[in-house]
Amino acid sequence: MKSHSDGKVLGHDIERDLERDDLILITGAGGFIAGTLARYFHDLGYTRIRAVDRKPLPEWYQRVPGVESLSMDLSDPDNAVRAVEGAVEVYNLAADMGGMGFIERFRVQCLRSILINTNVIEAAHRAGARRYFFSSSACAYNTDLQKSPDVVALKEADAYPAMAERGYGWEKLISEMFCQEYWAERGLETHIARFHNIYGPHGTWFGGREKAPSAIIRKVIEAKDSGDLQIEIWGDGHQTRSFCYIDDCVVGIDKIMHSDALIATPINLGSSELVSINELVSIVEEIADVQLERTYKLDAPKGVAGRNSDNTFIESVLGWEPRTPLRQGMATTYAWVASQYEDRRAGRSVVTD
Ligand code: NAD
Repeated sequence: MKSHSDGKVLGHDIERDLERDDLILITGAGGFIAGTLARYFHDLGYTRIRAVDRKPLPEWYQRVPGVESLSMDLSDPDNAVRAVEGAVEVYNLAADMGGMGFIERFRVQCLRSILINTNVIEAAHRAGARRYFFSSSACAYNTDLQKSPDVVALKEADAYPAMAERGYGWEKLISEMFCQEYWAERGLETHIARFHNIYGPHGTWFGGREKAPSAIIRKVIEAKDSGDLQIEIWGDGHQTRSFCYIDDCVVGIDKIMHSDALIATPINLGSSELVSINELVSIVEEIADVQLERTYKLDAPKGVAGRNSDNTFIESVLGWEPRTPLRQGMATTYAWVASQYEDRRAGRSVVTD
């Protein structure tokens, strides 16, 4: 990767006030998005990245060579202090979370992630970090606006008056507020993105925390492999969502973190390509070249009826929005899950919780 004569790293046309050897802390880096973010900054040429996750190191989804990787529970304030020591930028993506099957069932666990952000932001402020990023979620939006599959896309103002998703969504909303008040009252520069259904290689694909895209891919692969050409779909299949490819997500995090127009200002980071779950299944069937008989589990966790990302604000501020076509991102993800499936069958170790 090229660098300026002053030692600054270039990439994706983003101006960062960050030296090549400034310390970047990324939490939750044993998981999907933060692990990919660590690889992204490493590949850009940053030489001092600290990755933290509570999982033991052998269970991390990705380990990036040259990145300092620490296994620590950040719900302990002392660990948060150790984690941020010397960090110029802090990316807090650690959270106890999963797909609808997880967040509808384990609300207390989701709410307890409040401890992570509370500790890490306080430690970052005390340590004098320059910038702080928090990964919020579309689950922070008012659920009353999401009762029909024919959704009006959610714009940033739609979080208030607040009626967030029980458990997980409320934790995100109050952690956003911490970020806003640390800026207003204590001058820590915070940046907040509301992710909308991120998917791609290195995400959870089995074990109970997986989300719809990789769960559907796995079910299609299993059906093909077993010859039992059926698929069980959670809900009636008419619920709608948009899905954002991981490469767009990490570039978006970088852009949002380094935009002076986006300090303490929550912003959508999602695709605006809306599909129903039935359409998503059809995309995967097409990639796999198979047609399955569909059954619908109407009492399964299915979340809100419809949700899309309104990208007017991100387009106006950054002149950019996630644009990877769903069909293309799903083909790459399918290939990755298929290789994991083969590895698991051959007895090789694969990622999961
Ligand atoms: P993930 O589960 O793959 O990664 C989260 C990581 O945080 C896990 O590896 C977990 O072990 C770690 N963690 C949990 N508790 C911890 C603790 N106490 N101390 C240290 N580490 C801890 O999830 P992800 O999909 O990569 O999500 C990353 C962030 O993005 C999370 O904050 C999540 O809420 C947010 N988000 C994700 C999506 C999505 O579609 N994936 C959507 C909206 C928001």
